[in-house]
Amino acid sequence: MPQDVNKRVFLKSRPGVNGEPTDDNFDVEGCETPSSDKLQDGEALVKTLYLSVDPAFRCCLNEDTGAEYLTPLQIGDTVHWLGIGVVMASKDEGLKQGDYVTSNFDWPWTNVFVKAASQLKKLPKESVQDRPSLALSALGVTGLTAYLGIKVKGHVSPAANQTMVISAAAGSTGSLAGQIARAEGCKRVVGICGSKEKCEYLTSQLGFDAAINYKTEDVSDRLKEACPDGVDVYFDNVGGDISDKVIQQMNRDSHVILCGQIAVYNKDVPYPPPIPAPTQQTLAERNITRDRFLVLNYADQFDEALLTLASMLQQGKLQVRETVMEGIENAGKAFVSMMKGGNIGKQVVKVADV
Ligand code: NDP
Repeated sequence: MPQDVNKRVFLKSRPGVNGEPTDDNFDVEGCETPSSDKLQDGEALVKTLYLSVDPAFRCCLNEDTGAEYLTPLQIGDTVHWLGIGVVMASKDEGLKQGDYVTSNFDWPWTNVFVKAASQLKKLPKESVQDRPSLALSALGVTGLTAYLGIKVKGHVSPAANQTMVISAAAGSTGSLAGQIARAEGCKRVVGICGSKEKCEYLTSQLGFDAAINYKTEDVSDRLKEACPDGVDVYFDNVGGDISDKVIQQMNRDSHVILCGQIAVYNKDVPYPPPIPAPTQQTLAERNITRDRFLVLNYADQFDEALLTLASMLQQGKLQVRETVMEGIENAGKAFVSMMKGGNIGKQVVKVADV
């Protein structure tokens, strides 16, 4: 397929509600390249720069997403999710050529597309900081999730000498959450993740006090060593067995930030999934809070949070690592890889240069 032909990624098959997604669930084909000559009033022609792949996208591969804010993809549909791009032409006075834009969960997996300007969100150039993909990580949904999750549900106070444990700690949300926890005043920050390389990254680059490889180490034993004063805040990105073990080490009146449960995203269970009776009992006996956190419920705090995150970045208090897969035709592969832990930091797909 020639480079200059527009391509679209579409859903070829579903993994099934209890199946792991594979590359074969996605396919790519050439499609019409929209022309700026045919733009209608209020429309913009946009070139995709980066696509975001995120765990919650897994829900869109089922016939029923189970989430009120997500619609299921149909077989043959062009995949849509989150992305960032640049305006190539516009017939809307609010957008001009060269503007950076994002959108809600309706960014199509195509190289170029036409969209109503009202469905696009213009980003201030300075917020992109010469690195557009930041709008999908630290200055996007995962940055907001890490920051607001801690602010709203973490009850972190510098005077309290708290220990925070984070699961999926080397991923996009987890790696940011660990750095934010430190900046907010946690005394100890401990990460749980799935490889030696990830553990080393957390302790040598991001300032985590300890990191536990859940694939090769005994999580309970290592938690006891790494958290001698118990766990005060648990930023839970994974659920399942790992979280049951962390909760057993939590202190009285401590807090779970119930951010995500990726360990069960390939299973047909409601969200949040049921937890075993002993875990439930520990939560109740120790008065541990564990309320669902959904970042979209805090949209009124996004602008302020983004200012804080941008300032942290500028001051060098936040390091943002990305795992980049090149080419729109590899977007499905990037998603499958991220679900299996192939990423360190934010998994993105690079589609084009500015
Ligand atoms: P990540 O960048 O963290 O990527 C996902 C990671 O999850 C993988 O790299 C992998 O790392 C880990 N993982 C996959 N399967 C398992 C498993 N069975 N057990 C343990 N770990 C596993 O993704 P995000 O930062 O985008 O998302 C992290 C979490 O935050 C997800 O649960 C997501 O749904 C949630 N989220 C919640 C939001 C909210 O509003 N509440 C908003 C955005 C995200 P490893 O190698 O360590 O296994």
